[in-house]
Amino acid sequence: MGRRVVVVGSGTAGLATADALRSEGWEGDVVLVGAEPHEPYDRPPLSKQLLAGRWTTDRIVLRTRAALAADGVELLSGRRAIGVDTTDRTLHLDEGDDLRYDALVVATGLDARRLPFGHDLAGVHVLRTLDDALGLRAESSTARRVVVIGAGFLGCEVAATVRQAGAQVAIVDPLDLPLRNVLGPRLGTLVAEVHAGHGVDLHLGRGLASYLSDRGRVTGVVLDDGSELPADLVVVAIGATPAVQWLRGSAVPLAGPLPQDGAGGVRCDAAGRAVEAVWAVGDVAAWWSPQEGRHVRLEHRLTANQHAQVVARAITGGQPRALALVPYFWSEQYDLHLQSYGTPAGTDEVHVVEGSLARRRFLAVYLRGGRVSAVVGAGLPKALRAWVPAVAEHRLAEHRLAEQALAPDGEADGAPLRA
Ligand SMILES: Cc1cc2nc3c(=O)[nH]c(=O)nc-3n(C[C@H](O)[C@H](O)[C@H](O)COP(=O)(O)OP(=O)(O)OC[C@H]3O[C@@H](n4cnc5c(N)ncnc54)[C@H](O)[C@@H]3O)c2cc1C
Repeated sequence: MGRRVVVVGSGTAGLATADALRSEGWEGDVVLVGAEPHEPYDRPPLSKQLLAGRWTTDRIVLRTRAALAADGVELLSGRRAIGVDTTDRTLHLDEGDDLRYDALVVATGLDARRLPFGHDLAGVHVLRTLDDALGLRAESSTARRVVVIGAGFLGCEVAATVRQAGAQVAIVDPLDLPLRNVLGPRLGTLVAEVHAGHGVDLHLGRGLASYLSDRGRVTGVVLDDGSELPADLVVVAIGATPAVQWLRGSAVPLAGPLPQDGAGGVRCDAAGRAVEAVWAVGDVAAWWSPQEGRHVRLEHRLTANQHAQVVARAITGGQPRALALVPYFWSEQYDLHLQSYGTPAGTDEVHVVEGSLARRRFLAVYLRGGRVSAVVGAGLPKALRAWVPAVAEHRLAEHRLAEQALAPDGEADGAPLRA
């Protein structure tokens, strides 16, 4: 038998790994095992263009089975890995069969987090997979009242999409502002205003207590202050957890649940290696960050591609490739297109250094302990990119700091500040 790489998970990270293996010159077998019945597809449009009905399923397919076969990649779709024996280098699949590997890449992404109650009711949805999105789209096209539980990126995007389709929408979140944990109070306020401006009802600082239902179908939600919101559709968008259940009991190390430990993902070194002959990439992977001195797990589309490049190089034995230092993500809500480089946190100091939040065209620099942790902006993509080196080095050039004192809470005064 020739040498074989088995990649578990046929999403962005898994597909990118298969691609990168071929471009790095891997001549052995590549097998892509995916639990979903579909060809590899792109997830970000699920809450945006696909949910809105502007795009069909075909448009989000990243690679057809035939194109994969032409690259010598075998796709085993609708097949789930249930365990791994790292001594024998054997992957156990459902239906009882085993796959031998020379290298194994874990790319199993995340599972949507669910509440302990209510998911048996018709009309209560989560959104992680294409099937979730198609189910949600089918109902949201006729839904009149939609309640979104969770004001993170996913909840905000879903709220924006269904609101634009004409439904009455309410968002419920225990925090006092959308995205507060990631973007902080100032940008959280902006996001709240944008949604309120589009007629979304925000129930912030409120939790979900229970559902109202009739004959197995949701009819509303009860909040923890006793108030009731009618709903014919509820979307639970309360985050997602690494899909590592199948690795429990194996020698593949898992990270602790806290964000500073890697938030429950596969614990890897700085090049994505978890244990002899096993690597992890994408949302599921908590890579050691020498810059941050901790394991970091990121849920960003672009990180999945970057991980894949590094791991494919390691497997093929080429000159080691370093991970790009600056994570990137974007989010689309109505005409507010947010972009972020770095790792913004809600507790960072935020300085708007170009444009203004009021105009919804701005560049905000995030500082943590005096070091640049991130830049977040809307409508200024070029200016934002110019800040990437400052984010990579975590610092503002000294002379720039001297040139323009940053008022702790000030809006930009018009003078652009560049790294
Ligand atoms: C609705 C939505 C919108 C998003 N929007 C954005 C955005 O705007 N910008 C951005 O940067 N990022 C966004 N993201 C995040 C981005 O999609 C992810 O970072 C990216 O998909 C990660 O790719 P991945 O391959 O690691 O994981 P996934 O894409 O989740 O793929 C993992 C695959 O592994 C499969 N799998 C799991 N367990 C097993 C098993 N035991 N055996 C076999 N297969 C298994 C899963 O079924 C899945 O198909 C969004 C995500 C979602 C869900």
